[in-house]
Amino acid sequence: MACHQMKDKRELIRVVKSPEGGVFIDPTGKKNGRGAYLCKDPACFARVRSSKLLNREFKTEIPAEIYEQLEEQYGGE
Ligand SMILES: [Zn+2]
Repeated sequence: MACHQMKDKRELIRVVKSPEGGVFIDPTGKKNGRGAYLCKDPACFARVRSSKLLNREFKTEIPAEIYEQLEEQYGGE
């Protein structure tokens, strides 16, 4: 999403906005809703987070927990 590189979906993290309006991480890639893909490059995620690209993409406020959960996906330890 941040770098616009085409990558295999297995190398991407899918974030979904459900029809009800909730935003969550979709590890299975199968949930209904509007999806955005983030690549697994931590530098990309840093850019997405700092520029709040997900907020813009989904036109909604993304809860801080979502960014925290995403950070874990990038191996935050
Ligand atoms: Zn990227």
